[in-house]
Amino acid sequence: MLGPPGAGKGTQAARVAESLSVPKVASGDLFRDHQARDTELGRLARTCMERGDLVPDDITIRMVMEWVEAHEGEGGFLLDGFPRTLAQAEALDREMVESGGIDRALYINVNTEELYRRLAGRWICRSCQTPCHEHSSPPAVAGKCDRCGGDLYQRDDDNAEAVQKRLGVFFKETEPLVQFYREAGILREVDGVGTVDGVGAALLETVAE
Ligand code: AMP
Repeated sequence: MLGPPGAGKGTQAARVAESLSVPKVASGDLFRDHQARDTELGRLARTCMERGDLVPDDITIRMVMEWVEAHEGEGGFLLDGFPRTLAQAEALDREMVESGGIDRALYINVNTEELYRRLAGRWICRSCQTPCHEHSSPPAVAGKCDRCGGDLYQRDDDNAEAVQKRLGVFFKETEPLVQFYREAGILREVDGVGTVDGVGAALLETVAE
């Protein structure tokens, strides 16, 4: 699943994976988990993440491929936020050669103004990672996740400076992958400005094609 920060990848990846009954992983969540456990990888990734930079390809590819190898036999899976560079996309293609390659690249497209608005008010559940927004989708109980009741927090890299950096990195490093997957004939683009249900339904339609 491709898209700029704030496009709704996390929200939609959870819904699509649930509907298809496949496991999913977000590379950002894997990094945050390493940080919470204070592993060497977590420490290596921390500075890049705090600045809004990408973590170097070799570290990222190794970490995500470990996850892929552990889940490859499960009838499919969904990756959220990976690949984000051409080198990562090529590594994924190599990994998937024997199982016939990846089926779809889902691109959630959202204009920049809307992305800034979303990221500035974003809160995330510490337990299940479900995001909500203080204005457009406020939680029923302040500070608590509607889905699981976990505590909500704001990400360190959702501050104005890091957001600007992350969007710049997206347009430079990740947006070229849209063309890469379009040329491969597997890109499906969905307008990410709409209701969560509407965008989710559009994504599922493209997967079912
Ligand atoms: P995310 O939760 O997807 O917004 O990712 C948070 C941060 O984790 C990014 O700003 C990067 O620093 C790092 N990260 C996540 N996925 C990748 C990736 N595929 N390649 C490099 N860095 C990544």
